[in-house]
Amino acid sequence: MQQYIDSYDFTGKKAIVRVDFNVPLDENFKITDDTRIRRAMPTLKKVLEKGGSLIIMSHLGRPKKVDPKFSLKHIVDHVSECLGVPVQFAEDCMKADAQAAALKPGEALLLENLRFYAEEEGKPRGLAEDASEEEKKAAKKAVKESQKEFVKKLASYADCYINDAFGTAHRAHGSTALIAAYFPNDKMFGYLMEGEIKAIDNVLKNAQRPLTAIIGGSKVSSKLAVLKNLVGKVDNLIIGGGMGYTFIKALGGHIGLSLHEDDLMPDALEILNTAKEKGVNVSLSVATVCGQAFDNDTPQKIFDIYNIPDDWEGMDASPASLENWKKIILSSKTILWNGPVGVFELPNFAKGTLQIAEDLAEATAKGAYTLVGGGDSVAAVTQMGYADKVSYVSTGGGAMLEAIEGKILPGIAAIQED
Ligand code: AMP
Repeated sequence: MQQYIDSYDFTGKKAIVRVDFNVPLDENFKITDDTRIRRAMPTLKKVLEKGGSLIIMSHLGRPKKVDPKFSLKHIVDHVSECLGVPVQFAEDCMKADAQAAALKPGEALLLENLRFYAEEEGKPRGLAEDASEEEKKAAKKAVKESQKEFVKKLASYADCYINDAFGTAHRAHGSTALIAAYFPNDKMFGYLMEGEIKAIDNVLKNAQRPLTAIIGGSKVSSKLAVLKNLVGKVDNLIIGGGMGYTFIKALGGHIGLSLHEDDLMPDALEILNTAKEKGVNVSLSVATVCGQAFDNDTPQKIFDIYNIPDDWEGMDASPASLENWKKIILSSKTILWNGPVGVFELPNFAKGTLQIAEDLAEATAKGAYTLVGGGDSVAAVTQMGYADKVSYVSTGGGAMLEAIEGKILPGIAAIQED
């Protein structure tokens, strides 16, 4: 049975909390962006305020073995500072029995990087490149077997389980999903997870209409499932960024050197057909800011998107396309945005993406519900100082994408299931 932090009695209880402390570190192991740590604080502080103690667990990076570079010891001081209590550190997440048992109400313990163990992800490691299918199968079976012990051990430290790591909710890992089974009556979402789930429901389940999705980014292939799911749900679908050129080429346009995927052209046409059948308004670029090289300082010129010369490539949305999109955005009641509409990492080609961020802030001020997800889109609203001027900024890139593909995320299902 799912519980709720606000009504759960944490007095004298130990809560094991899965957070996403996978923060970027510089070469001196200093945190360069602590957003993920700060966003987990409301949940962690609440447990302590309500008389509980904390066993905090996370991954950091993608280590394939114990590797000091990916140790969570680098962030202990910062977590202590944010939490307002000294956080203890368990150097091995599988040997924290004594430290966990000694925790008193109001105290906190951070476990070492869970991914130092293959069992967290449940995938075999160290297989020879030429391993046979049989060997691969056996290794997979062995790690799935030892994963049970791994999860059981983590669960043994605590009385209740909280999942507040939306960034890994799409993974069926030990600490993100499997552990929940040990706490059938004492499992719950943290505030961050709850916020993310509500935000996605506000768009996919309870949207005020008109509902508009703005999908950008590099490739149709990486967002095909997203487009296919959304085309059945939205009123307007704005398709921008690199993926737009595949649509234009499929429609017979001449796109010069622009990024595109020939093999995805039939899918692009299918999406357009479905949209037509369902009465969904699809808005592609009309003109595009082009460059002659994938370089910030390359000369820029605007071309009709159907007639880009052979030696030019589309790199950002043009004022004419942005004007069309702004009208759609400002007449929408719910807007989902994922993916840049240009090469955002090159400042001279970031204008379109920054303009979308501005339009979303304006729509929010007019009463629309706006949800922003994906690395570049989040960076754009943050860079413009609009993170507080949109309704919700998602912390999970891959998890958010899978959710808007319409998938049930294992980390969410594990808490909701009885
Ligand atoms: P994604 O990870 O799918 O959201 O894609 C993000 C990437 O899309 C960024 O690195 C952008 O540079 C890239 N992108 C957006 N528009 C274009 C474009 N017109 N040409 C090439 N890459 C693009």
